[in-house]
Amino acid sequence: HADSAMYQAKESGRNNAQFFTAELNDRVVKRMHLESDLRHAVERNELVLYYQPRINAMTGRLAGVESLVRWQHPSEGMILPANFIPVSEESGLIVPIGAWIIREAMRQHVAWNASGFGQIPVSINLSAVQLKEGGLLKVLEHALKDIPADARHIELELTESILMDNVPATIKALEEIKALGFSLSIDDFGTGYSSLNYLYQFPIDRLKIDKSFVQNIHISSHNLAVTNAIIGLGHTLGLQVVAEGVELEQDVNLLCAAGCDELQGYYFGKPMPAEQFEIWLKMEQDAAANVPGGIEDSA
Ligand code: C2E
Ligand code: MG
Ligand code: MG
Ligand code: MG
Repeated sequence: HADSAMYQAKESGRNNAQFFTAELNDRVVKRMHLESDLRHAVERNELVLYYQPRINAMTGRLAGVESLVRWQHPSEGMILPANFIPVSEESGLIVPIGAWIIREAMRQHVAWNASGFGQIPVSINLSAVQLKEGGLLKVLEHALKDIPADARHIELELTESILMDNVPATIKALEEIKALGFSLSIDDFGTGYSSLNYLYQFPIDRLKIDKSFVQNIHISSHNLAVTNAIIGLGHTLGLQVVAEGVELEQDVNLLCAAGCDELQGYYFGKPMPAEQFEIWLKMEQDAAANVPGGIEDSA
C-alpha cells in the first residue's frame, strides 16, 4: 500500500510538473510573439491614442483630455496598455513607442486647434524607463521643433514611484522638462510611497488622486477621508487636484463639496478615439449653449 501511494504521489507530482512546464512554455511563447509583434506596431500604425475628458468641477466644462494608448493588434484585436506597456518597458521598446505617443498626442492637440476646437490641454502618461534612460528631454525638444504645439498645454503624467526612485536626479530631470514649458502631474497619487518631505520640491502642477480611493467615497468614509486629505494637501502645496475614476453622480457631488478642481471618469466620458471625442465635445458644447444663463451665455 505504502509503495503504491508513493508511486501515485510521484506520478501526480510529475504530471503537475509537466503541466506546469507546458503552461509556462505557453506563456513564454505568447510573450515572445507579443514582443516581436510589438517591435513592428509603431511602423505598422497599429497603436492608437484614445482620449478621455477631464472636467472642471466648478464650471462643468472640458478642462482637458488624457491620452491613453491602445494597440489594435491584427489578430488579437484591441490590447489595453496593462497588457503590453510592461512588456514594452522590459524590452526597451517603450522608448520608441513612448516617443511616438508624445508626438501623436501633440499632433492631435495642434490638429484640434486647427479645426476650431481651441487649445485643448492634452496629458500624456510617461513610463519610468522613458524618464531614466529614454533620452526624454531630447525627444521632447525634437517634438517641439517639429510640431507647433504650445508646451504649456501638454502635460506629462508620472507616478509617485517614478518620482521617489532617485529624488535629486528626478528633480533635475523635471526642472529641465519644465524649462521647455511642459506641465507636470503626479498620477495614481496615494497608491505609491511618497515622501511628503520631497513632494513640495518637485516642480509639478497637479495631483491625480488614484481611482481606488475615488471609486468608493460614497460608501467608504475611509476613502472619503483620504480623498479629502489629498485635496487639502494638494491645495496647501499650491497644486491643482484631479479625481480619476469618477463613475457616479454621488461621487461628483462629494468631490465638488470637497473642493476638488477637476474630475475624470466614466461618468463624464470613457476614453474614445479622436473622432468620437470630437462628437462628444460638440454635444457637450451644444448642451451648454442651450442652458439659459449657462456658462456659454455669460462668457
Ligand atoms: P492611468 O494613467 O491612471 O489612466 C487611467 C485609467 O483608468 C485608464 O485605463 C482609464 O481608461 C481608466 N479609467 C478612467 N476612468 C475610469 C472610471 O471611471 N472607472 C474605471 N474603472 N476606470 C477608469 P487604461 O486606458 O487601461 O490605462 C491603464 C494604465 O496604463 C494608465 O493608468 C497608465 O498608467 C497606463 N497607460 C495608458 N496609456 C499609456 C501611455 O500612453 N504610456 C504609458 N507609459 N502608459 C500608459
Ligand atoms: Mg494617467
Ligand atoms: Mg491614474
Ligand atoms: Mg496608472
